[in-house]
Amino acid sequence: MKVKIIGAGLAGAEAALQLAKRNINVDLFEMRPVAQTGAHKTDLFAEFVCSNSLGSFDITNASGLLKHEMQILGSELLPVIFDCAIPAGAALAIDRTLFSQRVTDKILNNPYINVFREEITDFSPEEPVIIASGPLTSDKLADSIKSFLGENYLFFFDAIAPIIEKDSVNFDKAFYLNRYNKGSADYINCPMNKEEYLNFYNILTNAPRIELKSFEKNAKFFESCLPIEVLASRGLDTLRFGPLKPVGLVDERTGIENYAVVQLRQDNKSATLYNLVGFQTNLKWASQAELIHSIPGLENANIVRYGVMHRNTFINSPKVLSSSLQSKISPNVFFAGQITGTEGYTESIASGLLAGINMSRFINDKPLIELSSDTMLGALTHYISFPAHTNFQPINSNWGILSPIDLDKKIKKNKKLKNELLANRALNSIKDYLSNL
Ligand SMILES: Cc1cc2nc3c(=O)[nH]c(=O)nc-3n(C[C@H](O)[C@H](O)[C@H](O)COP(=O)(O)OP(=O)(O)OC[C@H]3O[C@@H](n4cnc5c(N)ncnc54)[C@H](O)[C@@H]3O)c2cc1C
Repeated sequence: MKVKIIGAGLAGAEAALQLAKRNINVDLFEMRPVAQTGAHKTDLFAEFVCSNSLGSFDITNASGLLKHEMQILGSELLPVIFDCAIPAGAALAIDRTLFSQRVTDKILNNPYINVFREEITDFSPEEPVIIASGPLTSDKLADSIKSFLGENYLFFFDAIAPIIEKDSVNFDKAFYLNRYNKGSADYINCPMNKEEYLNFYNILTNAPRIELKSFEKNAKFFESCLPIEVLASRGLDTLRFGPLKPVGLVDERTGIENYAVVQLRQDNKSATLYNLVGFQTNLKWASQAELIHSIPGLENANIVRYGVMHRNTFINSPKVLSSSLQSKISPNVFFAGQITGTEGYTESIASGLLAGINMSRFINDKPLIELSSDTMLGALTHYISFPAHTNFQPINSNWGILSPIDLDKKIKKNKKLKNELLANRALNSIKDYLSNL
């Protein structure tokens, strides 16, 4: 049996090495240098397209915990990362060219992996295939993924609103209510008086924006998905008649209908995370923090995900993917990397690792690995495959997606200790799971 892997990026390279390690033959297709993505600079595998940092390796950091879990699962790229590490304070940064060269050599010298420098434009769901073509998947392949999944299940741009932790909301100011008299009181509302709104508007309209890459400049965003700064530039009151409309949102404690209201919508099953409705934004992150912290009730909000807008091909995983990364449409088809809606270098490698292991288990008729949400990788895969998402947008590892843990108030306030407890639970959970497989 042979597995086809489309894309030799971070996820595809890890998945290929996982399969090879299990003596499974792989045909690995990489379109560079025959066709380019617009962001990659070399023809090497596993290229880091932008920063050369993978974030922290400390278990009290969400991305650090993920790396520890990947070590337990036997990641093939992590040891190469450590070999290519360069001094960068608390961050795990690498010499990116050395790293990609080492991964490329490792793959080219592997007898189980056949490399084809070719753009794949179509695939058959009758054969085992891992699609790991990344955020800059070529147009023709994107078309065939779309026909495989269905018209509405592939997206081309991130338009992400920031996400914050509910525990950090100040409910002396914020209050629960439904959205415009519909449904139950599911929304957290942050009311603003006129002065607060003007201050907010001033920060918003003067904040610097992240510069778009040349291949993103022609991006057309849907009118209903416009960045909040673009809406604000249309006039002082545009937001008050749009996402910040205060009509009907009366705080029962004061009986006041405010000048403007920012609404927060539940973002995960355990209701630990909330996103800011209508706040998709391209502002620089420091400005986003300043803007969010200017909102009454969010003065100390812990931001787990900043808003971003960029070209990003990703599938509607909640509808089409299971947490094992197998597609619900054909069991032969797995997805890995950023195309699944996980975001970040570490996350892409981690999902390639899981997809590779699970593809080998699938081929060998073994039950697939589905990690629990006690673990960072399990929480990520459950988040992206959670069917009730209505406006799915990519996510990176963060503490808010883990299943909650019962802690007394004192420990809850001590972030480091809380994260340490969550991390130890995660590592024990993954070890237990693997020893019982
Ligand atoms: C511009 C940009 C900057 C980013 N910066 C960062 C950052 O600084 N930090 C961070 O953590 N994350 C960043 N990301 C997000 C993400 O972590 C990276 O994109 C990561 O490389 C994704 O890994 P991947 O394996 O899913 O995709 P990739 O690493 O992009 O690999 C996909 C591979 O598939 C190939 N391919 C595409 N279509 C085809 C086809 N039809 N046939 C054959 N091969 C094909 C591509 O050439 C590519 O080599 C960035 C993303 C982008 C787009």
